[in-house]
Amino acid sequence: MIDNHLPTAELQALDAAHHMHPFTHGAALAEKGARIITSASGVWLQDSDGARILDAMAGLWCVNLGYGREELVEAAARQMRQLPFYNTFFQTSHVPAILLAKKLAELAPGDLNHVFFNGSGSDSNDTNLRLVRHYWELRGKPEKFNVISRWNGYHGSTMGGGSLGGMKGIHAQGGLPIPGIHHIDQPDWWSEGGDMSPEEFGLSRARQLEEKILELGPDTVAAFIAEPVQGAGGVIVAPETYWPEIQRIVKEYGILLILDEVITGFGRTGRWFGAETLGITPDIMTVAKGITSGYIPLGASLVSDRIAQVIDEGDEFAHGYTYSGHPVACAVALENIRLLEEEGIIARAGSEIAPYLKEKWESLADHPLVGEAKIVGLMGSIALTPDKASRAKFKGDAGTVGYICRERCFANNLVMRHVGDRMVISPPLVITKEEIDELIARARLSLDETLERIE
Ligand code: PLP
Repeated sequence: MIDNHLPTAELQALDAAHHMHPFTHGAALAEKGARIITSASGVWLQDSDGARILDAMAGLWCVNLGYGREELVEAAARQMRQLPFYNTFFQTSHVPAILLAKKLAELAPGDLNHVFFNGSGSDSNDTNLRLVRHYWELRGKPEKFNVISRWNGYHGSTMGGGSLGGMKGIHAQGGLPIPGIHHIDQPDWWSEGGDMSPEEFGLSRARQLEEKILELGPDTVAAFIAEPVQGAGGVIVAPETYWPEIQRIVKEYGILLILDEVITGFGRTGRWFGAETLGITPDIMTVAKGITSGYIPLGASLVSDRIAQVIDEGDEFAHGYTYSGHPVACAVALENIRLLEEEGIIARAGSEIAPYLKEKWESLADHPLVGEAKIVGLMGSIALTPDKASRAKFKGDAGTVGYICRERCFANNLVMRHVGDRMVISPPLVITKEEIDELIARARLSLDETLERIE
């Protein structure tokens, strides 16, 4: 049994001494001491000092079902007793992987009827990179090797995922991107739209894909990868003209479209997948996070009939992970999906909660620090600015004001994340209207306190 009752200072010292955190400056954390989360229920976290914190990020965009669902615990325990592990290599399979693959094929849009299981979002995108290149090799076009993605997109932090993503901080360390990955600009009108209308800007950013394809040569491009709504980049919602133009371009040049739904999948946008909300037809879809509501790691690549047929009829696909289709993770995912479906959680999130949250979230735009307020379903962002009219950036390092605001949120027992000077939310889908009111009240208070500190 884990001792949850060690004093906070002792836990922080042990954490600093032995635990290397992801995407964290270790020395800065050691000086400050980590906030230690000990338990959670619904949308509420509890820390080692007994504070009750509203988690407006659903962990890391993943606890869609909310914390504390015993059914998922039971599903994991049952599966662990029956078959805690078996692999899916060497012509073997097991019931949880089979049933989950069938269920995902039913839920996914279009003809994404085939599932390759992975352990996370990052390694799912590594799988996708290998899948699309191998697909074109099997079609006799090995020169179709290049993959295009977007600056400030996020597709994970493995060598493949980090390369596909367009985070300059990741590329700066360790020699990324790997060869054959090319980036175009993101459709972030607020920061980069200049004098263009959002519609003109959306078209111009989509057409960068066409320009890049022509620059590289259409015969050398395997795929384009993008998130329906950029999450880790700051919840960037593309103008309405963007996605139809992207669809036109990938179709015209015979380029595969990989839609990274690691955040947007499983109800985040108010429907099962962002593809439905935004009317996008992908050839491959990446899912992870919400597939198990984050209770256990699992990722998957959902693959179209056309691609799966070529891969299946080719040589052995020389790729896979020990935990591809882990039975316990698949059992938890099946139970998570059952609850999301049978309790009507996604339907309610889309029809009732999302419109309520949208109204309240957009009301923050009247705050002196807030420029645009954007939201799709239950993922939203506000851009902090010193001057709304000119969409100005703060003087000094980007992210300084966002960091202050995040710290004020944390002090007010609200988890909101900052991405540069944008504040983002992605609460569990089970959040109630009263909890949304609480979220907005704490956000507003934190914005007021941020303003006081920077004036
Ligand atoms: N793709 C997207 C869109 C993500 O947001 C993330 C994680 O935030 C990933 C991929 C990587 O997933 P993981 O952290 O499970 O490797």
